[in-house]
Amino acid sequence: MPAAGRLPSPAVAATLMDGKALAARVRAEVAYGVAELGRPVGLATVLVGEDQASALYVRRKQEACEEVGIEPIHHELSGATSEEELLALVGRLNADERVTGILVQLPLPEHMDEGRVIRAIEPIKDVDGFHPVSAGHLLQGEPTFVAATPAGIMELLAAYEIPLEGARAVVVGRSNIVGKPMALLLLAENATVTMCHSRTRDLPGVVREADVVVAAVGRAGMVTREMVKEGATVVDVGINRVDGKVVGDVAEDVREVAGHLTPVPGGVGPMTIASLLRNTVRAGEYQAGRLAFPRG
Ligand code: NDP
Repeated sequence: MPAAGRLPSPAVAATLMDGKALAARVRAEVAYGVAELGRPVGLATVLVGEDQASALYVRRKQEACEEVGIEPIHHELSGATSEEELLALVGRLNADERVTGILVQLPLPEHMDEGRVIRAIEPIKDVDGFHPVSAGHLLQGEPTFVAATPAGIMELLAAYEIPLEGARAVVVGRSNIVGKPMALLLLAENATVTMCHSRTRDLPGVVREADVVVAAVGRAGMVTREMVKEGATVVDVGINRVDGKVVGDVAEDVREVAGHLTPVPGGVGPMTIASLLRNTVRAGEYQAGRLAFPRG
């Protein structure tokens, strides 16, 4: 007999949304786009300091570039580099014709002003979509570089035909690079969007209303089974290291109630990289005059 109060679950597993497989398809499209552009495409990556996780992310991005015919142009600076030196490098990359897109890996060391560094990137090379010009275009619903993680999530939701029109969507986390652009993209697809953050009252109650949940907090297992409506789509953005293992923000047993779920690893991560590559080809198209770049 089951314990009183909790009915036995039929243990129906959620459909896992395979970001790895979809990302492979996107990379093939990007490789075609690069070849078709008929001019070299280069992505400059800038890593400042010795953060192991950041170094790993940058390496993955470089490898992905190589696979699709984008030249990775890597710059590594010590953690003691001054902000002025970093700004000078960004200035050189802005002027360098080999460099189609510029990515400064975040977070930067504490003595640097991230906003100032991001604003120094020429908007036409802002393949991360973090520049206020890109963010402003997104806010106004104009074509732009969309931040890679939310862009990749939208592609994953579309591939699995998750209905968004009129759906209740809850985004947990309000960072400029994930939560806020995510909410805007869901809104653009006519979802009814709620954004949650560290001051949200009754987070479980809010999340329980959602047809689509995006968890982008950075706390292992913070979205629990009890918080998820049966059949909901759950997108797990979190990357947390627990006992040497990478886990998301969504607890393991959520898959017993969710309809669709992104695994960690293999869900959002590969799509983030694929979207970055897409943005880099798009930058090439702008710079080749194939597409009109929306001026700020
Ligand atoms: P930030 O730290 O910038 O933002 C975290 C957000 O979570 C903040 O808005 C914060 O609220 C909110 N938050 C913190 N605690 C709670 C809580 N108890 N309840 C509700 N909300 C809370 O993180 P990022 O957006 O940069 O990243 C989020 C996660 O996604 C991280 O694990 C990161 O590693 C991962 N990530 C994964 C990527 C991928 O490719 N898979 C790409 C980018 C990020 P407040 O604003 O009030 O402080």
